[in-house]
Amino acid sequence: MNKNLVNKAILLAWITIIYNIVEGSASLFWGISEGSIALAGFGADSIIEVTSSSLVLWRFEEEAINNKHLNLKRERQATYGIAILFILLSFIMFITSAYQLIQQNHPQSTIPGLIISFISLFTMFFLLYEKKEVGLKLKSSTVIKDASCTFACIKLSVVLFIGSLLFWVHPSLWWVDGIASIFLAYLIYKEGLFTLNQLNKLHKVV
Ligand SMILES: [Zn+2]
Repeated sequence: MNKNLVNKAILLAWITIIYNIVEGSASLFWGISEGSIALAGFGADSIIEVTSSSLVLWRFEEEAINNKHLNLKRERQATYGIAILFILLSFIMFITSAYQLIQQNHPQSTIPGLIISFISLFTMFFLLYEKKEVGLKLKSSTVIKDASCTFACIKLSVVLFIGSLLFWVHPSLWWVDGIASIFLAYLIYKEGLFTLNQLNKLHKVV
């Protein structure tokens, strides 16, 4: 296996982990304090991204240090865990946003969401491009799966950005955050199903 490419995969995973710990904490903090479910859900998704990139580290370091081949059973279990997290998160978001809409609640401000999603878009586009390239060259399903987590984050950032922008421009649109959250929940749910489907292909590409 090409050492430079493996090092690059490890570096990209570290960037994702550090970036998402900062982004996730900021999103959860502002999301909860401003009452934005869309932003809080976006923050919870960062935790899934950290988990996914930790798998990349675990997969390559295990192989680099012990010179062992990947334990497919463990990778399958870990991937299954990620899929379940996605689906669980989507249900929580759906129920919370439905409640928010019924109660006619809305966030105090969506400016934190606007700023965070804007920064996230640039970071994620860069990470997606690099991860896809490395993943394909290494033929690593773990890296490719991790890249699909990054792609999911891009879709979430777009929805969060548009929702935050609409509410900022027109605060009378109190329902925008609730609708955006339901849409985000749907995207996260689909990502969970997609990850489950990928489990069936795991034994083909390693
Ligand atoms: Zn994210």
